[in-house]
Amino acid sequence: MPLRAAVLERLKERLLEKRRALINTVREKRANNLEGGGGDGTQDIADQATTAYTKEFLLSISDAERQQLKQVDAALEKMRQKTYGQCERCGEPISEKRLEALPFARFCIACQEEEERS
Ligand SMILES: [Zn+2]
Repeated sequence: MPLRAAVLERLKERLLEKRRALINTVREKRANNLEGGGGDGTQDIADQATTAYTKEFLLSISDAERQQLKQVDAALEKMRQKTYGQCERCGEPISEKRLEALPFARFCIACQEEEERS
């Protein structure tokens, strides 16, 4: 069963929120690191198209943050392609419950377990 539009919209909001939070973390970190600010760069990035990160930006975030950002962006991209909510491995729909818990999940639960085992 495809996801209802309202559910999709809510998940999209959460993904965008997550993305904003990640970018904010980077901005704060940078403000702490650099004396006297110089912090407009990240603000611009927040407004840019999702994949257009500068090299500097990518270098300034940790692997975990970069990974999460990539997952969030991938999920948003899938929403644009109308393939969101499909398991990337078996093509079956990912349960709504799972997406609510993890909006950027790429696999259904069964495939996720398989992936973790291998
Ligand atoms: Zn699957």
